[in-house]
Amino acid sequence: MIINILKTKRTGVKTNFECQKNLNADMLFRPDSKFKGPVKVAGNYIIEDNNSDVTVRADIIFEISCLCDRCGVKVEKAFNFKLKELFVFGVETDVNYAYNGEVIDLEKAVTESIMANLPTQIVCKDKCKGLCSVCGVNLNEKKCKCKEKDDNNPFAALSALKKNIKSQTKK
Ligand SMILES: [Zn+2]
Ligand SMILES: [Zn+2]
Repeated sequence: MIINILKTKRTGVKTNFECQKNLNADMLFRPDSKFKGPVKVAGNYIIEDNNSDVTVRADIIFEISCLCDRCGVKVEKAFNFKLKELFVFGVETDVNYAYNGEVIDLEKAVTESIMANLPTQIVCKDKCKGLCSVCGVNLNEKKCKCKEKDDNNPFAALSALKKNIKSQTKK
């Protein structure tokens, strides 16, 4: 994920770029998930007036496949996160990334942006009903006869999912 900033040496001029790379899905912190294809980054960069700092603005575009956090079915989701970062020669601080030499490696900035922006819960659809907390049936597919005492308990679906996974692994 490299931009060659020597392509333009003029300050204040937007230069478009596009790059892509297959990234390791470990950063997603979801053991069930994978990237579908490379992560694409497309946007522009500007060399600032000091002739050294570089501002990068881009879209980070990718798809993942994972399991719905409520019902456990396989889902595929496409994301588009906005990246706007300042790259300073040699020095990384809390507010900027560093570059060294004539190229900017975006991988760290892109990885951190994905980690920060990925929703904490990914569901197959907004109205996913999840699993019955008693019998573990997928309530999107069928109704069960259990009376759900914990109807409003957000953890009910999760515990049912865990039960479901346990009973599957026992087989
Ligand atoms: Zn679901
Ligand atoms: Zn049930």
